[in-house]
Amino acid sequence: MKTERLYYDIHDDGVYAATILEIRPFKDKTALILDKTIFYPEGGGQSGDRGAINGAALLDTREEGGEILHVVSEADGAALRTGGAALRLDTRRRRDFSAQHTAQHLLSGTILRLTGKPTLSMHLGEEVNTIDVDAPEFTKETLLAVEEAVAGAIERDCPLITHFCPPENVADFPLRKVPPQGEEVIRVVEVQGNDFSPCCGTHLRSTGEIGMLRILGAEKYKGMTRVSFIAGRRVLNDSRLLRDNADTVSRALKVPVVEAAQAVLALLEKAGALERRVKALEETLAGIKAAELLQKAGILAEGATPTPRVLALSLPDADIDEAHRIGRAAQKLCGVPLVFASPKDAKFVAFCSTKGIDLRPMLKPAMEANEGRGGGGSSFFQGVFSSAQELAAFMAALTLPNALP
Ligand SMILES: [Zn+2]
Repeated sequence: MKTERLYYDIHDDGVYAATILEIRPFKDKTALILDKTIFYPEGGGQSGDRGAINGAALLDTREEGGEILHVVSEADGAALRTGGAALRLDTRRRRDFSAQHTAQHLLSGTILRLTGKPTLSMHLGEEVNTIDVDAPEFTKETLLAVEEAVAGAIERDCPLITHFCPPENVADFPLRKVPPQGEEVIRVVEVQGNDFSPCCGTHLRSTGEIGMLRILGAEKYKGMTRVSFIAGRRVLNDSRLLRDNADTVSRALKVPVVEAAQAVLALLEKAGALERRVKALEETLAGIKAAELLQKAGILAEGATPTPRVLALSLPDADIDEAHRIGRAAQKLCGVPLVFASPKDAKFVAFCSTKGIDLRPMLKPAMEANEGRGGGGSSFFQGVFSSAQELAAFMAALTLPNALP
């Protein structure tokens, strides 16, 4: 069914009368067919309008097989009837997308004029928009020049003019892209002094209404350059968000906002140096603790000749990282198989620097008997238990004489 398209002319939030001709299932939702519509259907990189039909939230508007489908929830669809309908447009969203779309024309036209590179595709997102430009890359200076030129065109408030042109006359316009084939009339949108483009989307009346355009970045994408941008009210929202963030950093570091980034970098450098220093101190401390533990166990006592037995110790104050550091330091001081447990983490680590001693047969049976999981090689082994109790039972099993090699 052909729906009369009124969406180019309607952009206020008044209530418009139409007729629901058909209600039909659409995926897990319901689609309405109207005799006329104020809602723009998704197409040409611009998403479909939202709003309400007889109070039911319009979730999407799309075109399929020449029909315009107005998508509502299944529950709303069940409550609706064919016949008279009141249509209300989400004007805030429409205006936002019209601003992004108009900005895209201006941006693509400006890039083409300044660099000779055409836009091959575009996407208007709910938050950020992108265009894919047939260029391997853009320098920062180029992007800045483009942004400045766009700002100039916004200040000059250039009007947008819509031309309806039969296909045979389309060559009269210096079009930026190839017009669609098989159309009776081509809709050419002119941004005066900037761009001519065949386009079916919704636009603002002049570039001044865009307010502002910001290029957010450019990255390589499938041999092209993907330029992301925002326009209109989105720039204000973005600026507010960035300012709030910068203010928080500025207050926390007690520096002016413009120095916040530099201050964060300096702080990161300082934090990195401190971290390296802490690590070195932790290693030193682990060495001292390891020597102490081995001395207490009689392994490093004067005149002691350590027989190959297991030293299994629980370190109640250490997390597994510290247990690891102590173990590493201790194995440099003796060749005895060492098992250090962290009850906090319900984990253990084991080391042995003596060739010919294999940790695995020493540890695996007791570990598995207590539902532990882990693994390793002959000289390093680690495991984890579901609780500190199971870890303790494992450690107790290791001190039994039959656990010794
Ligand atoms: Zn357009």
